[in-house]
Amino acid sequence: MAGFPPSAVVVGGSLAGLMHGLVLKRHGTNVTILEQEPASTRSSHNAGIGFGPQAEELLRDYCDLAGLEGYYAPAVKTRLALRKKANFREINLVRHLTSWTLLYRILRANFDGFPSSTIPNPPPPRKGDGRTEYRSGQRVTSLEYHNRDSTITVHFVDVTTGKESSLTTDLLIGADGVNSVVRELVLPNKTPANSRKEYSGYVAWRGTVPDDAVSESTKQYFSDRTCANMLPRSSIITYMIPSDDDNAGHRLINFVWYYNVPAGSTTMTEVFTDITGKQHQNTVPTGLVQPDIWKREKGTMLNRMAEPFAELIGTCDISRVFVTKVNDKVCADSASFYNGKVLLVGDALVAFRPHFAVATEQAAGHGLGLAKVWKGDKSLEEWSREVVRYGKRTWLASRVLGEFGQGTWFSFFRTLLSHVVLLVKLKMGWA
Ligand SMILES: Cc1cc2nc3c(=O)[nH]c(=O)nc-3n(C[C@H](O)[C@H](O)[C@H](O)COP(=O)(O)OP(=O)(O)OC[C@H]3O[C@@H](n4cnc5c(N)ncnc54)[C@H](O)[C@@H]3O)c2cc1C
Repeated sequence: MAGFPPSAVVVGGSLAGLMHGLVLKRHGTNVTILEQEPASTRSSHNAGIGFGPQAEELLRDYCDLAGLEGYYAPAVKTRLALRKKANFREINLVRHLTSWTLLYRILRANFDGFPSSTIPNPPPPRKGDGRTEYRSGQRVTSLEYHNRDSTITVHFVDVTTGKESSLTTDLLIGADGVNSVVRELVLPNKTPANSRKEYSGYVAWRGTVPDDAVSESTKQYFSDRTCANMLPRSSIITYMIPSDDDNAGHRLINFVWYYNVPAGSTTMTEVFTDITGKQHQNTVPTGLVQPDIWKREKGTMLNRMAEPFAELIGTCDISRVFVTKVNDKVCADSASFYNGKVLLVGDALVAFRPHFAVATEQAAGHGLGLAKVWKGDKSLEEWSREVVRYGKRTWLASRVLGEFGQGTWFSFFRTLLSHVVLLVKLKMGWA
């Protein structure tokens, strides 16, 4: 499988899709990205993205970052607050954090020269780049593998006009997220291990507050730290991120507040009903959260939080709050199908609970690993085995951490035990 393919189609034009498109383009592959969302100007949930060394390596090697020094906010330490004790412990854990929109704009500018307020003059293509096309509003519906010449035909529909089209390509990458259609197509016989998406039992209330909207002492408390407030069967994580539209030093304090809501409960129905009365499956976006519900839910906990957290959450404007269910998805048993002609990457392969904030880092790791495969430095089977093992390990570890913060002792120890069993199986080569 060594050698970069002459052509590739990537399904999904979010971070994983763009990262893979960019890696292929820089090595001369002609790449088409098919993205179901009709608008190229996409906005994030403004919820912050953690990224690590692999995402940084991918950006450094494949993107032009001139003038973008402020594209992430470094957190030099992690501060722990226990209930009302604001300064309980400090851990030397460095994280880099940014916003989805900033990363998307950097990747788009470098993939297909898409201009934005962040990068009004995208860099020109480099010598040897392949041709690229980002086709918005195209939803992939099916695919076929042709044995005779090992190609893949992908069928898709224009979400606005309903027009059906198809493309034949040397490689298809499924980067279409947690509800991946590509994954469903290559794993049609659903087995629990390949298809299950689970509600964890808790939701995340998320929001941002401009750092100049809180008192000076609270701003300082959150300034260069990731902070966590451990509460009874609940927890809040905060970190600073650059604002979506600005990379020149304006900062937002981003919070994620994990909060137990039993599946099927009245509270669940209330929380996921928006201001127009519409019931949402997974996320009530910013601008649609019912103010009374937010007021009631935060009211139950504000006086139990450490002071800076209470100020932050008390200050957050309702227009910047959204709520989402925390789900996780069991990892597929393989990332490679049809003789390596269809690959699953990013959240399409495995989606973790968000506690480690490593989804973007995972996507970058997939892209860098595949570059090694195409350069002939590792086999595709080795890559697939590695990413599946990493996916399973991290998936279970994120569950352990989630149950530690939100669950009962019983659910925590049960998840911990599954994690240990998995580690043993991985060590022995049984998983
Ligand atoms: C608009 C947006 C904003 C986000 N904001 C945040 C955030 O603020 N914080 C955070 O932690 N995470 C955020 N995420 C999730 C984050 O991008 C992922 O968890 C992680 O980076 C891995 O990305 P991914 O590309 O694998 O999956 P995703 O980001 O979920 O991307 C999957 C993409 O595939 C597209 N797609 C799905 N099905 C089809 C189909 N059949 N045909 C064509 N296209 C399809 C989707 O529209 C989507 O663009 C956001 C995702 C999106 C799409």
